[in-house]
Amino acid sequence: MTPTPEQFRNIEPKICTDCGKKIVEMHESYLTQCDKCLSHVEHL
Ligand SMILES: [Zn+2]
Repeated sequence: MTPTPEQFRNIEPKICTDCGKKIVEMHESYLTQCDKCLSHVEHL
């Protein structure tokens, strides 16, 4: 499991569905909202 440059290129920046900002991918990105918006959502 060696990360290659091509694999990095395949990662598209995620955009927060709430505010439209780029989501920093610190975690596995099943998230569609940035940390800031997630903190406002109480359902998750
Ligand atoms: Zn957001």
